[in-house]
Amino acid sequence: MKTQALLLTCEHGGARVPPEYRYLFASSAARAALQSHRARDLGALGLAQSLQRALRAPLHASTVTRLLVDLNRSIGHPQLFSKFSKSLDRAERATLLDRHYFPHRDGVESWIEGRVRRGRQVLHIGVHSFVPRVEGRKRKADVGLLYDPARAGERAFCAQWKEALEAVDPKLRVRRNYPYLGKSDGLVTHLRRAFGPRGYVGIELEVNQALLGEPHGRRRAMESIRASLASLVDLNAGVQIDG
Ligand SMILES: [Zn+2]
Repeated sequence: MKTQALLLTCEHGGARVPPEYRYLFASSAARAALQSHRARDLGALGLAQSLQRALRAPLHASTVTRLLVDLNRSIGHPQLFSKFSKSLDRAERATLLDRHYFPHRDGVESWIEGRVRRGRQVLHIGVHSFVPRVEGRKRKADVGLLYDPARAGERAFCAQWKEALEAVDPKLRVRRNYPYLGKSDGLVTHLRRAFGPRGYVGIELEVNQALLGEPHGRRRAMESIRASLASLVDLNAGVQIDG
């Protein structure tokens, strides 16, 4: 499949707490949470930046911790704020959203809108990572490709991408709509409502942190994702570097 414009995003790129919100994370429980995978997607920003360089695609990334506000949740979602930021009152929440939520979400949306208005199709890849174990059980994938089964373009792209990944690295365990469903609430889901399937293809890339957590695995993930994407996306014809 040839696409017109590739856009990379990273919603959970860091565990940064802006100074004005540090008081919310003063407890030892909050400090421990900030050090954990709950604060961010370990390895996701590094992977997104490597892909940005290798594919010469624009990257919109945020490094504010999702324990303050989760950029991959819609307004009104119960997990938009964490137990550490839920104590903010209505006005403080509005300020927080204006400073650290809408700039990322609206920036991504207006970038896409600009391309779609000119008749181009955007392939948006949200870069995320997942923990290797949940409730003591090992997750059975290295890479997950999340899409909406109701969108034929996304379904076809992920089938091709899985094949391309396995061609590059036959031992890589690639699964679709795992460990989460692509149609669950997220930035991509919001953007699907804003743009039709002709203008917008939204995929979430989920990589196992067991892979991203050590140098060999990191290189392996990066190289297979880069090479497979390069084989599917027409870099010369399509990708805009004007980010
Ligand atoms: Zn994430």
